[in-house]
Amino acid sequence: MSSIPAGWEAVIGLEVHCQLLTKTKIFSGASTTYGAEPNTQADAVTLGLPGVLPVLNREAVTMAVKFGLSVDAKIAETCVFARKHYFYPDLPKGYQISQYELPIVEQGHLDIEVDGVAKRIGITRAHLEEDAGKSLHDAFPGFTGIDLNRAGTPLIEIVSEPDIRNSAEAVAYLKKLHQLVVALGVCDGNMQEGSFRCDANVSVRKPGAPFGTRTETKNINSFRYVQQAIDYEIERQIEVIEAGGKINQETRLFNPDTGETRAMRSKENANDYRYFPDPDLLPVVVTAADQERIRASMPELPAAKKARFESQYGLSAYDANLLTSESALADYYETVVKVSGAEAKTCANWVTGDLLAALNKSGKAIEDSPISATQLAGLVARIADKTISGKIAKDVFEAMLAGEGDADAIIKAKGLVQITDEGAIAAAIDAIIAGNPQQVADYRGGKDKLFGFFVGQAMKATQGKANPEALNRILKEKLAG
Ligand code: ADP
Ligand code: MG
Repeated sequence: MSSIPAGWEAVIGLEVHCQLLTKTKIFSGASTTYGAEPNTQADAVTLGLPGVLPVLNREAVTMAVKFGLSVDAKIAETCVFARKHYFYPDLPKGYQISQYELPIVEQGHLDIEVDGVAKRIGITRAHLEEDAGKSLHDAFPGFTGIDLNRAGTPLIEIVSEPDIRNSAEAVAYLKKLHQLVVALGVCDGNMQEGSFRCDANVSVRKPGAPFGTRTETKNINSFRYVQQAIDYEIERQIEVIEAGGKINQETRLFNPDTGETRAMRSKENANDYRYFPDPDLLPVVVTAADQERIRASMPELPAAKKARFESQYGLSAYDANLLTSESALADYYETVVKVSGAEAKTCANWVTGDLLAALNKSGKAIEDSPISATQLAGLVARIADKTISGKIAKDVFEAMLAGEGDADAIIKAKGLVQITDEGAIAAAIDAIIAGNPQQVADYRGGKDKLFGFFVGQAMKATQGKANPEALNRILKEKLAG
């Protein structure tokens, strides 16, 4: 992140379009599956043919309510769909069905953390609307193709308060929001496919001055691009103003190749859209009982899960945060703890350390881990019951990663069972002491560093299988003479 020059402050508000994971469209039974042949999912309602009527998808409403409850927002008892008029080839009706004056979700918030500093970002509103289609500019030379498969896919547009002050906060907010909608199961979170995309509103001002004129950079589809677009806009706007110019209220586009934004069109005002309540759709009523029923069906949310991991398992905030960053990872960890019966902290070390490192290295998601949670539990259990040492466990882990089987099978096949028989360890140590009289004399004469030499020799003699605690203790005793 580039820093903001002294004497300036940025003001940022984000609008996030989040595709809801319903099977069918918001106002018809057409499929919402991504990637189908163009226009194979465009039924009469999607096409806006005369004489058809929209029928609201109940599941879309449920998902919007889930989101609202998860950000402590007010759920409107009655919300209303409105027509938002604009003319664009991928919008066959000439208007988009959205919500305007009475959105389903209002006044929520999300808590973020940047460099250890907590901050609350207000969520002004979240409303239900239908997605538009897509224009295909490269498919036919000289023509623009229209694919209406996406048209009518349910969205919630989540609008933040202008509470964000730099690109790092913006990215933290977006990541938190992304994690939340994925955990709720209301969005697949796929940013490349456009399931979660962001418009960044940016303005600059002298601290304490009224808000400046903002620009809105549209449809940014990666966290890094959001950071780049915001940093670019802040710098550009400051330069314009310092050179005596003025910021135009406009819509801009981000170019990922150059990291720059450019003007696309001057921004519409709300009255340009001629909003009015859609006469084809009844107001939607969500009763208190509906809300409670929906609340009861919600999964444990990331923030609650993190708090529970800290208290139930005694984990650090850092570990708890990492392990709850994805629900599949949290589930994996909890299975390891439960099945291994080992200390929660030991399990956390294996999951956040060796396992995540191995997954990162091979570019795999936790869902595709070559070592299942039950298998890792099998390994951790053998450390806990002292069958193998933590050091040998690393080798067993590598073998498991290579697909050589379960921990027990590998331990048996390779003869890795730890030597806990203190008589055997003592005998090995006696032999080493007898075989290295000079080193023994030096050690006893004050060369403490030689202790490591003896440990190394003893481990070698036992093929690394001696219980490290017993080995250290017996070695100390015997070397003391
Ligand atoms: P519109 O629907 O025309 O884009 P909204 O009033 O819904 O307008 O605001 C959109 C977003 O712009 C919100 O996220 C809001 O926080 C943000 N915003 C409003 N004023 C400013 C400003 N001066 N600078 C930066 N962001 C702003
Ligand atoms: Mg906007």
